[in-house]
Amino acid sequence: MRLTETFTKEFYNSEKKLLIYGAGNYGEIALGGLKEIGLTPDYFVDKNHAGELYHQIPVISPQEINRFSQDVFLVASLNYFGEIVATLIKNEVEIFYDIEYLIEICPDEFLNEYTLDEKRNIDKYKNVINNYNKDELIVGHVEVVLTEKCTLRCKDCANLMQYYEKPENLEVNGIIQSFDKFLTTIDILLEMRLLGGEPFLVNDMDKLLLHYINNNKIKRITVYTNSTIIPNEKILRVLADKKVSVHMSDYGLVSRKVRELSDLFDRSNIKYYVHKYNDWKDLGGLNLRGYTDDALKKLYADCLMSKCYTFYRGILYLCPRAAHGERLGFFNNLMDEYIDYNNMSDPRINRKKLLKVINNTESLTACKYCNGSCVRSRSIPAAIQKTR
Ligand code: SF4
Ligand code: SF4
Repeated sequence: MRLTETFTKEFYNSEKKLLIYGAGNYGEIALGGLKEIGLTPDYFVDKNHAGELYHQIPVISPQEINRFSQDVFLVASLNYFGEIVATLIKNEVEIFYDIEYLIEICPDEFLNEYTLDEKRNIDKYKNVINNYNKDELIVGHVEVVLTEKCTLRCKDCANLMQYYEKPENLEVNGIIQSFDKFLTTIDILLEMRLLGGEPFLVNDMDKLLLHYINNNKIKRITVYTNSTIIPNEKILRVLADKKVSVHMSDYGLVSRKVRELSDLFDRSNIKYYVHKYNDWKDLGGLNLRGYTDDALKKLYADCLMSKCYTFYRGILYLCPRAAHGERLGFFNNLMDEYIDYNNMSDPRINRKKLLKVINNTESLTACKYCNGSCVRSRSIPAAIQKTR
């Protein structure tokens, strides 16, 4: 069911502020479309860029939305469409539109190669807006951990892989069993992300890919690689499915197969994009920081990783540090900070519990052992290697 109308110039009301929710690829496309009809938004809304300027336009945080509940919002996101609509409704915003029309009219010259690619894939956005149902539980993305093994040993890995002394590949069948149960508790998963460590170290990951390519609840699958190894033939064949793409991290010299992989993916008709990382946010070590309750709550509220759902060993966590910090023995998460799908006979009865966990606004035990990651956090060079 389509919940939103698409924004066109006739909906513009000069007495109301115009806000684009999403300062990413779709935000840029919406801006290009607005310019085409002679309009400029007053604000962007985006947790990841709050306090900054985006294309010279101020970005506010979602916490400030309630000041604009009488104004006009454009939902400029694919992965977070459902979450954004839910946030707007929760904040009693009555006027919001999708950006299908703006995507269509945005001039190509306004966009860079990545945003141009998204514009060309307008069908994905249409699919999301046409199938939205406010009673459905739509999850933006879940990171599914396939392995603790990695070909690199980054000293500041946000997923804590550097701490595993005896890293293991996880059983593909075991992942499928528990993740299938998770899927019964939701209606749509916009993006399933497969990562590790380095997921191409899992030689039978093709089985898992095939299983989820055929699951209609999942709209797209992205494999995250550090661009150091070439996947086997079986995996390559499955990667060519139109539902799958590869995110190649480029950490400079250590990502030694960027070129080779790009050429191979080009030849094999595999969708991919290369993301160059120069800096990361410094999340720090796993020592207890001693934050006050208020500081902890703020740390979590501002953290860019606080809804980075991580599915690891059959359990859904809200952040990868919560998942791996516990496994590594640094702390124990509280019962209401995760959901264990390993031993549930009928997970459907737990949708309520899932909602309670994912709508957590307080903080996590893991945050007590973390610097947090917000726009103001200290940056450090990406992928500096630990000496073994
Ligand atoms: S490449 Fe580095 S950041 Fe990525 S999983 Fe491996 S150790 Fe972590
Ligand atoms: S502050 Fe909390 S949510 Fe953010 S990265 Fe650290 S542990 Fe995760």
